[in-house]
Amino acid sequence: MSLPRVGFLDLTRQHRALKDELLAATERVLESSRFILGEEVASLERELAERCGTAHGIGVASGTDALRLALEALGIGPGDEVLTPAFSFIASSTTIVMTGATPVFVDVDPVTCAIDPALASRAITPRTRALVAVHLYGHPAPMPALAALAREHRLAVIEDAAQAIGASVGDRPVGGWSDLACLSFYPTKNLGACGDGGMVLTPRADLAERLRRLRHHGDVGRYQHAELGTCSRLDALQAAYLRVKAKHLDAWTERRRAIAVRYAKAFAGLPLDVPGDAPGARHVFHVFTVRHRERDAFAARLRELGIETAVHYPAAAPLQPLFAGTPGRWPVAAQLAREVLSLPCYAEMTDAEVDAVVAAVRAAC
Ligand SMILES: *Cc1c(COP(=O)(O)O)cnc(C)c1O
Repeated sequence: MSLPRVGFLDLTRQHRALKDELLAATERVLESSRFILGEEVASLERELAERCGTAHGIGVASGTDALRLALEALGIGPGDEVLTPAFSFIASSTTIVMTGATPVFVDVDPVTCAIDPALASRAITPRTRALVAVHLYGHPAPMPALAALAREHRLAVIEDAAQAIGASVGDRPVGGWSDLACLSFYPTKNLGACGDGGMVLTPRADLAERLRRLRHHGDVGRYQHAELGTCSRLDALQAAYLRVKAKHLDAWTERRRAIAVRYAKAFAGLPLDVPGDAPGARHVFHVFTVRHRERDAFAARLRELGIETAVHYPAAAPLQPLFAGTPGRWPVAAQLAREVLSLPCYAEMTDAEVDAVVAAVRAAC
């Protein structure tokens, strides 16, 4: 049996397919020569806020800056504690440190890989100000339970929706569940720019105004600087590219979901944990991440069969060297770090490639 080799992700296919549209967008921005913020960024901000069922979008330089500025807009800083999942991309916790506040790591649910609301409740102290809900892998965190917990303890909720644009809980999209939600447009994300970019979403006009100020040196107009801000703006070329791509996002998400359904059916009965929608939730499969008891050996066999995989992530966040000595125990996060493996799952994969992944997984399991 000879199978095609399957790469983990090939972005050149997307850009080849959209080349004419992207070049037209480039020309439009060059003609305007308005490169920072401006009408392209404002339009994208409106379009994505509407897509996520909220009122305001504030384009910034990256998803990391979106998280950091969201925390700053709430006035979070030294002396404050912020709950964050022990298993996520590192920016879900380092951005808390950047504000001077203390991240308090909470273990995650073994099925959704999101912060566990019961454990989060136990980690609350009088210093706790906010909770970061990460929609990991594109699957929504349990927002109704987290929102109820936050209401009870007067905490702010920040959604880290970097991996999850298009996901939803019930009929409400992620990004529309909280005071502040953060998107990343890193090129490999479901809606990725041709460079760096990010956005904060909020239903609150006061927070939107503060974020617009913070991203541009605390400027309130005509070189009047009301507070210390930073330089973190989305540029017009990225916004123009993102507006081209956003038109295709729903179709791409459907294709990711169709591949995921095919995988889940084909892997039934194998010694693998396979992701899917929790009740009421809609997963957008930023990555299709399985769990295997002997992950490294399984990945090596897949590599021999020509299938490229990735590990998201090889260590629980608080066990990274940067957080060495952080007190606490996170058994689920530690186990996930040993067992998770992401398989190729992106919109431009051919059916033959999907079949090749299926055959290789069945052989390697
Ligand atoms: C990508 C990502 C970020 C950071 O986004 P950047 O645009 O790379 O700064 C934050 N949180 C999560 C969960 C991510 O996947």
